[in-house]
Amino acid sequence: MKHGITACEWCLTECNNEDLQCTKCGGPIAVLEPWVLQCGWCSSSNRRDLTTNCKSCGGELPHIPGTPRLPEPPVAPRFLAPGYENRVRYRKNPSFIVGAIFIFFIIPGMCLWPILIFPLIGVFILLWSLKKSKHKLNALKSGVPTRGVILDVFIDMDQHINHRNPVRIDYEFDTPDGTITDYVNVWDETNLRRPAGEHLWVVFNPKNPKENNIWPPLS
Ligand SMILES: [Zn+2]
Ligand SMILES: [Zn+2]
Repeated sequence: MKHGITACEWCLTECNNEDLQCTKCGGPIAVLEPWVLQCGWCSSSNRRDLTTNCKSCGGELPHIPGTPRLPEPPVAPRFLAPGYENRVRYRKNPSFIVGAIFIFFIIPGMCLWPILIFPLIGVFILLWSLKKSKHKLNALKSGVPTRGVILDVFIDMDQHINHRNPVRIDYEFDTPDGTITDYVNVWDETNLRRPAGEHLWVVFNPKNPKENNIWPPLS
């Protein structure tokens, strides 16, 4: 017998106290605690125990820390929340911004030609950063879903972005060619409550597993 209001961890449908599985989607039943999680698509805060999708952008929210991962991601090509592609490519892409600033040196470079080295470096950084964000977006849109496992979650003291340290999540995932290890930097400190060994979904390009992303993305 569970105490409190029982609901499905996947679709949040209220279920009978004695049910083991959700009558609507087959998900696990629990008494849901109030959890505020940031949306991985737009960074808005949401009460994850009250909604499965972000109130601001409609994107799918990550699962509650310490609970089973969500059902399998939708079939490709997947829909990405509105505005997300622009944020990943430009507005939330530090190397893109650095590249763009370097390119502005083309103006003083026209008077003093050795300065032209800066816009040249800028073009190089810009192309590299756009390629990197394209890989991330491609994995989300058309990657193959596979089981991912969290290895470690910690505050990365070696990295400072705007005087803050990101939360680093190390994870591994299964591919037909073996297990691959990767990591992401996120900002929502609620992620620190995700235990090592927690399962999640990773979507990846089988031809190049370095092109991968957690689904749904974490903030
Ligand atoms: Zn359900
Ligand atoms: Zn959102």
